Amino acid sequence: MNDIKPLHPCFDKESSHKHARVHLPVAPKCNIQCNYCNRKYDCVNESRPGVTSAVLAPFQAVTYLKALHHQLKNISVIGIAGPGDPFATPELTLETLRLVKETFPDKIFCLSSNGLNVAPYVNELAELGVSHVTFTINAIDPAISQIIYPWVRRGKVVYRKLQAAIVLLEQQMKALVLLKEKGITVKVNSIILPGVNDRHIPEVARMVKSLGADVMNCIPVVASAGSGFEKMDEPDATMIFRTRALVKEHIDIMTHCARCWAEAAGLLGQDMESAYGMLQEYAGMVPGNSTDRPYVAVATHEGLLVNQHLGEAGSLSIYRQTHNGFKWIEHRDTPKPGTGDFRWMEMGNLLSDCRALLVSGVGNKPLEIIQNSGIRVIQMTGLIDEGLEAVFENKPLRTVKKPDAFKCGDTCRGNAQGCA
Ligand code: SF4
Ligand code: SF4
Repeated sequence: MNDIKPLHPCFDKESSHKHARVHLPVAPKCNIQCNYCNRKYDCVNESRPGVTSAVLAPFQAVTYLKALHHQLKNISVIGIAGPGDPFATPELTLETLRLVKETFPDKIFCLSSNGLNVAPYVNELAELGVSHVTFTINAIDPAISQIIYPWVRRGKVVYRKLQAAIVLLEQQMKALVLLKEKGITVKVNSIILPGVNDRHIPEVARMVKSLGADVMNCIPVVASAGSGFEKMDEPDATMIFRTRALVKEHIDIMTHCARCWAEAAGLLGQDMESAYGMLQEYAGMVPGNSTDRPYVAVATHEGLLVNQHLGEAGSLSIYRQTHNGFKWIEHRDTPKPGTGDFRWMEMGNLLSDCRALLVSGVGNKPLEIIQNSGIRVIQMTGLIDEGLEAVFENKPLRTVKKPDAFKCGDTCRGNAQGCA
């Protein structure tokens, strides 16, 4: 393992006794179905089956990490490995990485994915300093793959059986090559599925090595209860040994890696039990309470009323509370439309010092993304001062809009007229 960083406990056996890794469970959804997975639980590809995680919004994840860092001084790796796939909701994964990098620029960033939707984000991953990525590739023959994956979803299209297998494989290979072009270390996990792929995994090893993968991990299946393979026997020691020995003829193999969970925190095999309680606590954290967010952003035409929808606001007015009342600070230009969900992530960055955003309307998707940045979004009409009093002084808001009073986004398609 030539270019593998020395302090990553999963990639360096010596480091595994000294350096801890932390998983941030910020990926709630998945874009494929593996027949050994029951999505009531965490992603089996990098986690213990049958374990259910809390899910954190990006702002909650970074707050949790700051608190954890006081107790766990030897964290070297910050990873995202579930509970679903990090690239089923790439905006949450990238936003988390961006926030974490601001606070912990020296840590190693590591991701685990099924690989289906990684290729479009490789440049951003490299820019964010992600140095290690794990893909689970269980087969390179679509005829075998289709037994493992009943469907995969790309965008709004669902592919099934053989087509699903072909699409998944194409995207995995493409992403692997792109990641290696960026110098990112790539580990490939293969789940040993007796009678399905156990004799095929060495072929996977040969192929991924030829594309530049650095190391492989062959993991015996423990299918989740309720999954398609729930009755599948676990591979015996002979099968595991044989598979690993044949794989080793093609590529370095990882042997010390223990199954972890999407919210693992600590040394490999010695997770910090109190982290689970902390996660539950931070998962309940409300946006906009942070004292390091002194401002409130307002969508207004003239500076008196809250009367703009977010999608039509070319700029936002920023206010703060002073001893002499509320004070206008500045106008901030909003990100231009045309970049899909990234527009709203940029908006979250733009307002990273704001505890709330007052708007007359906002679509569901931007609402979700901006709230995930830690900003309380209030849809209201009426005087700006009334909204500011609600945020800064917890006063009741008479002009708060009913959630369905304006179906923002129904007719808008990112043309500066709305939020979709
Ligand atoms: Fe489950 Fe992970 Fe497979 Fe998604 S990628 S179906 S979460 S095992
Ligand atoms: Fe990275 Fe996987 Fe190790 Fe987590 S378990 S730190 S995702 S290699």
